[in-house]
Amino acid sequence: MELHAISFSKTLAVIDEDRCIGCALCIKACPFDAILGASKQLHSVINQFCTGCKLCIKPCPVDCISMQPNNALETIEPIAPIFDSHKACIKCDDCIPVCPSNLNPKNLYLNIRSKKFSQAKQDSLLSCAQCADCNNACPSNIPLSQTFAYGITMLKNKAAKKAFTNESKLRIKMREQRLKNKKSQQLAFLSSKKNELAEKLQALKSSSLEK
Ligand code: SF4
Ligand code: SF4
Ligand code: SF4
Ligand code: SF4
Repeated sequence: MELHAISFSKTLAVIDEDRCIGCALCIKACPFDAILGASKQLHSVINQFCTGCKLCIKPCPVDCISMQPNNALETIEPIAPIFDSHKACIKCDDCIPVCPSNLNPKNLYLNIRSKKFSQAKQDSLLSCAQCADCNNACPSNIPLSQTFAYGITMLKNKAAKKAFTNESKLRIKMREQRLKNKKSQQLAFLSSKKNELAEKLQALKSSSLEK
């Protein structure tokens, strides 16, 4: 499965490798297949898969798993514009005719300012080329293109977060199927061994009767 660039969980499980005894109990507890390792070996967490569910913490007999902040989130969180630091939109509409992408910068700005990102998406925010022509036309000197860059990043993050959640659910299903297949294989193996033993026993009985 393709690895996400980052997990969208605010915290991630971290294993203290100096204390890990390789018991593998954490692997059995993780429903998202986010832990790597084998019996009697060091275990580690695949950060991109960890959902921060904490289910691995309790089973660890040496208490070497802790939850730590997911620092990777900082790298993708856009800096929100400080809307109070510039003049208000006077709704003059001067920004509209200058847009080469035929967008309505005024509406986009007002929606992003009110955190209505989905509405801004419907109004084609993703088509903004961030050319800044609207900035130059604005009598209130509003940093419009910067606001749109912020809105686009917020939309992309929202989509990536949704994809991360869907893939986490898929990993649960794939893990369940794998465990089910493994159990079926074990049962089939035990059954064939049982039949083998029964046949050997029968052969022994027959040979002792012949004697
Ligand atoms: S059990 Fe939860 S917290 Fe622990 S590694 Fe798996 S996903 Fe992360
Ligand atoms: S449960 Fe704890 S000691 Fe056991 S393998 Fe996992 S991290 Fe290591
Ligand atoms: S920054 Fe975006 S909204 Fe403003 S004029 Fe350029 S394309 Fe249009
Ligand atoms: S030009 Fe500036 S003040 Fe006028 S409507 Fe557009 S964003 Fe508002």
